[in-house]
Amino acid sequence: MDKNLDDKLFLLDISTNIFLLLDKDGLIHYANIRCSHVLSRSCLEGKYLSDFMPEKEASEFIKETGKALKNGTMDSFNLSFKSRDYIASIYPKGELVAVCLWDITDNQNLSEQLKKKTRQLDIAEKKIQEVEEQNKAKSYFLAQASHDLRQPMQALKIFISTLSEEELPERQQLLVEKINASADNLYTMLDNLLDISKIESGGMPYHPRYFNLDDLVKTLNQEFSEIARSKKIDYCYIPCHKEVFGDPLFIERIIRNLISNAFKYTKNKIVLGCCPEHNFLKIIVIDNGDGISEEEQKKIFEQFYQCQQKYECKKSGAGLGLFIVKKLTELMNTKIEVESEPGKGSCFYFSIPYKKEAP
Ligand code: ADP
Repeated sequence: MDKNLDDKLFLLDISTNIFLLLDKDGLIHYANIRCSHVLSRSCLEGKYLSDFMPEKEASEFIKETGKALKNGTMDSFNLSFKSRDYIASIYPKGELVAVCLWDITDNQNLSEQLKKKTRQLDIAEKKIQEVEEQNKAKSYFLAQASHDLRQPMQALKIFISTLSEEELPERQQLLVEKINASADNLYTMLDNLLDISKIESGGMPYHPRYFNLDDLVKTLNQEFSEIARSKKIDYCYIPCHKEVFGDPLFIERIIRNLISNAFKYTKNKIVLGCCPEHNFLKIIVIDNGDGISEEEQKKIFEQFYQCQQKYECKKSGAGLGLFIVKKLTELMNTKIEVESEPGKGSCFYFSIPYKKEAP
């Protein structure tokens, strides 16, 4: 055989596609090795397609090749045979027709799997959407109901305060104090839950503006100095004399949560201060409490997370204060950070823009 033709036939033989050369009656003039493997026969030349193929497939094959021969144009059709699926491309050449069969079974399986996965993803996405909608609806309801929920708590606080002003025997006075402490905890928890629902339902819009930080802290200081006195804690605020940029309600809530925590976990010292850093003012809350391990520092901003501490500390919170701080700082486009060493206290800080004095 001509060497050149031999090389070309070799290329067809090593192909994973089936190549055939047929006439209009299905008589095989050439078949590559792949074809012999699939039909489990050698020396196919001189035999008819119908000798190896079921009658239905063979007659369909001959009908399609006949059509292409008659029209003298390229054509293709789909064929299933021996549990495999093929695309057959037909190229007429004079009295003969060249056929290439491309096995698409695995591709079809892959595309089926892909379709199945896409369908599963669609279902999962729909489920997530549904849960998100339900969550939003719940948060919206809580945010709307927040006033009604806070009112009885406020009334309770007023009743307790009136009762504690009465001249009561020592034992009853002690009980009133305990009721007051429990009501305080309940109030804080309710406040936190309502704030979270408000933030998550988008009911806490961010309205940034320039304002004097010292003025904002002044009101907080009255409250915290009182607690510091009663708990014998050395609390100090270092005034910053700066106009800062942010939402005063958000910043008040963040500082309040950080200082409330400092009061819960400190030994006897708390400092609230700030320091300029480039275009930002860093607001810092430091205490000299037990501190937080590196492992736990990664988790304290998660919802409901509380470190392994003594029961007295744990009972006065629900692990929501820092989660709210994190959410609010995110809404303000900044970040709450912590530095702490067990036994040496903690330092929480976040940065906000401030007005620099004209040089
Ligand atoms: P909680 O209501 O329990 O105080 P938070 O979300 O405010 O919830 O804080 C989460 C946990 O982080 C607290 O339970 C506490 O263990 C730890 N933590 C927060 N602030 C401090 C701090 N200043 N010193 C030590 N531990 C702290």
